[in-house]
Amino acid sequence: MDTHTQFFRDTWVEVNLDDVMENVKSVRRLLPENISIFAVVKANAYGHGDAQVAEAAMDAGAHGLAVAFLDEALSLRKNGIESPILVLGASRPQDVRMAVDHNISLTVFQESWIEEAGRFLKGHDILKVHIKCDTGMGRIGVSTLPELKEVEQSLVKRPNFEIEGVFTHFATADELDESYYHRQLKIFEEMVGSLSSKPKYIHSANSAASLRQPQKGFNAVRLGIAMYGLSPSEEMKGLLPFPLKEAFSLHSRLVHVKKINPGDSVSYGATYTAEKEEWIGTIPIGYADGWIRKLQSQEVLVEGKRAPIVGRICMDQCMVRLPHEVKAGTKVTLIGKQGEERIGIDELAKKLDTINYEIPCMISNRVPRIFVLNNKPIEVSNRVLSSKK
Ligand SMILES: *Cc1c(COP(=O)(O)O)cnc(C)c1O
Repeated sequence: MDTHTQFFRDTWVEVNLDDVMENVKSVRRLLPENISIFAVVKANAYGHGDAQVAEAAMDAGAHGLAVAFLDEALSLRKNGIESPILVLGASRPQDVRMAVDHNISLTVFQESWIEEAGRFLKGHDILKVHIKCDTGMGRIGVSTLPELKEVEQSLVKRPNFEIEGVFTHFATADELDESYYHRQLKIFEEMVGSLSSKPKYIHSANSAASLRQPQKGFNAVRLGIAMYGLSPSEEMKGLLPFPLKEAFSLHSRLVHVKKINPGDSVSYGATYTAEKEEWIGTIPIGYADGWIRKLQSQEVLVEGKRAPIVGRICMDQCMVRLPHEVKAGTKVTLIGKQGEERIGIDELAKKLDTINYEIPCMISNRVPRIFVLNNKPIEVSNRVLSSKK
């Protein structure tokens, strides 16, 4: 496939599905066989591309998928994904028919919600639900045994609901100090023990807990960040049971190269002024692509060497200082590897004083994603270009 016939601007993300598959397979090998993997593909698969990552994860041995919102689940169904899907966040009671019609499992944690949702279900409708337990995350979920009992009984007495799972979420599984993690685990074990019957899926582990505590996965895990090849935290890097393969890279090309003279300035505000003759290159990526203004002075790779961004980052473009004259059209790597040099997602996260999760999520849908499988580009998705189809 000639990928360049699919979009008309020299900035793109490459998503290496071979890496995604290898990460899933590595986790699959690590976990006991009875533990199912739910691949977490919320937020457009952490900015990678949800349908494509979903397919790769399923091919690599995942059992099902998890997203944050019903819309994301419906979008996967629209794209032909037929695997089991669990919505991890709250849904509206009036939307339950959509979930039933598309065989999507929802998360529940309030008796009043179940009562209201029940009124939207008729006849042979069966809504599959997972009960969410809040054991210390403080986000959503039932937080006491009586509440859990009430929710369970409310579901059991209504024929239109099937309790498919029960789960909780850890707040600190990626930290070296495990005390809070063990406290949450103990509460969850108590909650699960109090149920009158065990649902099909009992799950607690995110990536961090899956990688560190494979035996405590109950019978399913929810694998997010590690599938994309990123460590759940800096602290955990030394504890990873196998090397992760970072699947996301970001590239562009120089669209203009020029020599500027001492005293000449670059970009809005004229905040950068050359002290001697310098070669300046322009790249067609800016803050509207998620390449935010705080990345000023971040380095990019040109001809396998680091070159700093100079001057303010504009909405659609930014400028870099080149070591010497370089041809327009030369590839620029903003995230990823070029020759011996590499700019990883963790480097950007550090620069922006945030976590690696946020980086691929923040590269906007204006940037097309090229999907690579078996070392070959297989597909391009650009939601901006395809939305009016
Ligand atoms: C996002 C999310 C996950 C995935 O977490 P990772 O740290 O990316 O593995 C798992 N469970 C819930 C409830 C989530 O919201």
